[in-house]
Amino acid sequence: MAQALETTSIVMSSHVIYRQINKDYAFWIEKRRFGQRQGGNVCGLLTHVQDDAIRANILFDCGLGTLQGLADLCDEVGEAAVWDHPLTVFITHGHIDHHAELMLLSEIYCQRRGGDYIHNIRPPLTVYCTVETQDHLYNTHRWGYTGGRTLTHCLLTPGQTIPVGPIAVHPVAVDHCPGAVIFAITLGAGGAHKVLIGWDLRSPPLDPVQLAQIRHPSLALIEGATWTPMATLTGHAGIQLLAESGFLDSLEIEFDPHNQRYGAYLVHYSGWEDPEGALSDGDMERRFHRTYPHLASVVRVAQRLQAWRFDF
Ligand SMILES: [Zn+2]
Ligand SMILES: [Zn+2]
Repeated sequence: MAQALETTSIVMSSHVIYRQINKDYAFWIEKRRFGQRQGGNVCGLLTHVQDDAIRANILFDCGLGTLQGLADLCDEVGEAAVWDHPLTVFITHGHIDHHAELMLLSEIYCQRRGGDYIHNIRPPLTVYCTVETQDHLYNTHRWGYTGGRTLTHCLLTPGQTIPVGPIAVHPVAVDHCPGAVIFAITLGAGGAHKVLIGWDLRSPPLDPVQLAQIRHPSLALIEGATWTPMATLTGHAGIQLLAESGFLDSLEIEFDPHNQRYGAYLVHYSGWEDPEGALSDGDMERRFHRTYPHLASVVRVAQRLQAWRFDF
């Protein structure tokens, strides 16, 4: 009896690492002008670790460059950490820069990483997305959902939280394209931390109901496709509008890394549509800090493969 009590009183230690696998909208052609030779479309990986063992990986979006990004991550953490644990995929919306490599990913995960016997493949990879997004995914990756049996769809409804172990993925509908969502991800039973995946916004989500779901994040990844507001051309609000509409202030972002509050990071930057042309990451960050000094301590530009840790 004493032994049983001892066993049940063990405190499980959990943490999550979020990694920004890729952080750009523009791909190599545009970024080569700044000497950037690696990268791709926005994509993030959340890894849940409990008692020193990986319990789950959750991938957010899977556009062009994802597999290269995961290969680069393998160099850091080893192949098994990326490929040999339960994997779930969430897709924000149907634009191709957010899912181009989905079926390549599922082929590798299910087939190449399956067992030794030719028919011993893993079950299909679960992909959560809205019904509108699924139209795009099915049309693009049809083989994976049919004869290939490497992909399966799970319906995502804005406002309805999906639990993945102790991680709760909460989709919030946004103005971008039909069926587009962003994710407010809470970690741990008490919701000790919140990671906001907030890329691809045509207009800032300023509605009080939206804000209530996404405010006060421990880490926010926010789109800034261009500096200038040019939503009718690009479908993206642009950095100026996100700052000047009060949206970034409304998020109530904090930068206190000792308490694992990491502020906001700009991702999904293209810049080639901007009348003044694209800026390097460093120039963009300096311009942002010069133009919006009251946000300088909390908003930065994300780096490829940058990682943040959350204990709970
Ligand atoms: Zn988009
Ligand atoms: Zn996009």
